[in-house]
Formats: sequence, C-alpha cells, structure tokens
Amino acid sequence: MKCKICGKEAKIVKESVIRGKYEARYEKCSDCSFMFIENPTWLEEAYEKPINVSDTGYISRNVYLSKKTLLLFTSLFGRKNTYLDYAGGYGVLTRLMRDYGLDFRHHDKYTPNLFAQGFDYEDRENIEAISCFECFEHLLSPLEEIGDMFKISSNILFSTRLLPKEVPDDNWEYYGIEHGQHISFYSPETLKFLAKKFNKNLCSDGKNIHLLTEKKIPNWLFTLILLLSRLQLDLIIKKILISKTSSDSKYLASKI
Ligand SMILES: [Zn+2]
Repeated sequence: MKCKICGKEAKIVKESVIRGKYEARYEKCSDCSFMFIENPTWLEEAYEKPINVSDTGYISRNVYLSKKTLLLFTSLFGRKNTYLDYAGGYGVLTRLMRDYGLDFRHHDKYTPNLFAQGFDYEDRENIEAISCFECFEHLLSPLEEIGDMFKISSNILFSTRLLPKEVPDDNWEYYGIEHGQHISFYSPETLKFLAKKFNKNLCSDGKNIHLLTEKKIPNWLFTLILLLSRLQLDLIIKKILISKTSSDSKYLASKI
C-alpha cells in the first residue's frame, strides 16, 4: 500500500490482534517512516465510546497539557487572541484554558461537549492557533484532516507519541490494541515531511509535543518554554490574565 502521508511505498512490518478479535496489519513507509493500520474495519465499534474506558489519564493529562498550552500560547501567540481546541473531547481543556483567561473555543465531531458548552467553534472565527491533543494517532486520513485544520489556523500545537526507531512489540501501550482507536503513528521524519508539505516550521520535544507553525520559532525556545511550564508559572500568568470562570458563568446564565 502507498504511504498515507508521502505516497511512497509502505510495507507490512507487524501484525496484531485488536480488541481481542480483529486481525490488524501495520504498514510502515520506507521513506517518511509513518506507520499505519492498513484497513481498520473496527472503528465504528471502537468509537461507540469515543473516550475509551481505559483512559484513566484523561483529566490529569488535560491539566498537564493546559499548563504547557498556556505558557506556549501566551509567549508565542499572544494573550488576547482566540484559540481553538480541535477534537477537544468533553471540552475539559477549553474550560481549563478559559479559567486561566485565554479565549478558547471547542470543537469535536464525535464527543459530546460537556464542559465548554456555549463556546463551540463557529466557522470563519479568527483563530490564532489550534491545540489538538491525542488526536493525530486517531486520524484515518491524516493529510486531509491536518489540511482541514490548517484551513482554520496556520499554527497547530499537538501531541502524539513519536514512533521509536525500531517498530515496538505489542507491549508498547500507545498501540492501544485493546480499544483499536490508534491507527496512525508518526516518526520525526513524518513530522518533517508534514512541515514541508504544508510549508510550515516544525518544533518538537522529540517525544510527544509538537508544533507546526507559520512562525520561525527556534526549537530551543520551544523546548525551553515546555521546561519552564513545570515551574508552576501558570499561577503567575493566571494573575496577569483575567479568568473567564465568573464572566462565562454569568454569560451562560443569561442565556438560560
Ligand atoms: Zn511516507
């Protein structure tokens, strides 16, 4: 099969049993090292519960990522712009970012918006940057879907765990073979190809957090900001910004 990212030849490198019953073949591109499942036939079943039941890290991951997003977006893209959490699940990150005081919108095609109601993204809103966490590995047609995101904004901050150089065995938990929702796996080379394809610059921590951006941001600065986000600077930034927790509540109450 052809690689879904660069179109070069991909070869089967691994077979596994997904959800305890489906045979899956993983193909890896000889050129950009993107790896994907050939023809995942179980997706409808896998998305009956869009947030899979074994995802116990859902809340702590959102809190962790909100601190990084706050520092990155305020320092690289400004504190007065509008942002979008794309494929934002239940809306937890959007709520956390608005609590900090950043104007975030929410978008998700598959999951009910529980925590960011009233702040759904509407077409043609001016979005400075998108956050898109734990989503790229779910994409069936990555080029098309990433292209759709770039129609909304020229800057995408995203998380997806990079594929190790050697194809890992089934013990690599990121395969998620028990739920079957992870079907696309990116290597550093894949991200470089994507940056070139969409004429963007790439920043990456080399592991899990990456930025495709129209801005020229040195990678050392990106990784430094990520490091600084461990220092609870979010509490200081929160003092500078004006939290939207209370104003959002009044706004939503006025609409009841
Ligand atoms: Zn490729």
